[in-house]
Amino acid sequence: MALFGQLNPPNRLLLGPGPSDAHPRVLASMATPLLGHLDPYFLELMNETQQLLRDTYRTKNPLTFPIPATGMAGMETCLVNLVEPGDKVVVCAKGFFGTRMIDVAGRAGAQVTTITQDWGKVFDLSVIRETLQKVRPKALGIVHAETSTGAHQPLQELGKLCQEFDTLLIVDAVTSLGCVPVLIDEWGIDAVYSCSQKGLGCPPGLSPISFSAKADEVMSKRKAKVQSWYLDLSILRTYWGSDRAYHHTAPISMIYALREGLRIVQEEGLENRWARHQRNHEALKAGLLALGLEYTADPNHQLPQLNAVKIPTGFDDLAIRKRLLTEFGIEIGGGLGEFKGKAWRIGLMGYNSKPAAVFQVLAALEICLKANGGKGIAAAEAVYAG
Ligand SMILES: *Cc1c(COP(=O)(O)O)cnc(C)c1O
Repeated sequence: MALFGQLNPPNRLLLGPGPSDAHPRVLASMATPLLGHLDPYFLELMNETQQLLRDTYRTKNPLTFPIPATGMAGMETCLVNLVEPGDKVVVCAKGFFGTRMIDVAGRAGAQVTTITQDWGKVFDLSVIRETLQKVRPKALGIVHAETSTGAHQPLQELGKLCQEFDTLLIVDAVTSLGCVPVLIDEWGIDAVYSCSQKGLGCPPGLSPISFSAKADEVMSKRKAKVQSWYLDLSILRTYWGSDRAYHHTAPISMIYALREGLRIVQEEGLENRWARHQRNHEALKAGLLALGLEYTADPNHQLPQLNAVKIPTGFDDLAIRKRLLTEFGIEIGGGLGEFKGKAWRIGLMGYNSKPAAVFQVLAALEICLKANGGKGIAAAEAVYAG
């Protein structure tokens, strides 16, 4: 058998919907020696990681820790633990990931009611109120940052509304944590999940979750066992709690990575981090508009960390993305679902939300879209200068 070459990945700038580039300090932390998953030093790192996560989620929830798998496992954890067969669940779908939640809730045995909104738009509270009134569900699921469209769902008032109907609020914060405010306690969110590889500047592999006291109480009253052994929080929490009972072998290096990523968030300060994402978004947006590109999301509800734009007519989706990758070393995302072949998705997440990334992608796009004659770099520069 041939001896395969030593690993030597090409240099890329990852400006798609994730993974985004990990911070160099995060990568360095992963190259430090392994510890046993019950080593006292490692157990202390787990405590610190939990504390850092609570700060980043702006919550006091004791039940806060990373699930050892990607964002989708976080979605699954919320649904399989909170839903018992036959329970009513409302899912708000306005894009690819909301649509996935319908499937995941159904597999957990929920009787799902779906409300939909046009791709690129967000839900009005009044529509959700009407549905809650009619259905009286046990839980409502919604995506905060819909990565398929770039739409930013306001959540400020939703927790209060769900409380009125004694409904648990489940939020997908996979693309929002570390980029825009995610205020679990203030907004009254009962269950939330995110990921390591988007706004937190780490590699993919962990899904931080947090459950409120109310969600915890609902779980304690379950009649049926959670159908997934691995994701059953009643067992899993004994490892993250004071028992430290063996559940699985923790992905040691990934916990190092997340702890370092969260330390970087803490050093920068969440408010500064949110402002940085907004500023770089405004510069990128000015550049993209100057290149003649149009956003897919409602302009009043545009995510700073995920810029989805319509592919202009006369330009070839795959050819341009291939050119960006091979000639410029830049990865951007294509469209998903309804937007397949129709949109490009440019992520400025975590470590990658920086002027250098904005100028690099604008320069490359300006060349690829030369036939349109736009001046993207100049427009972005004016935003930074002004
Ligand atoms: C990326 C993403 C997911 C899935 O996360 P994975 O880490 O790919 O499993 C779920 N929801 C949203 C909104 C996402 O953007």
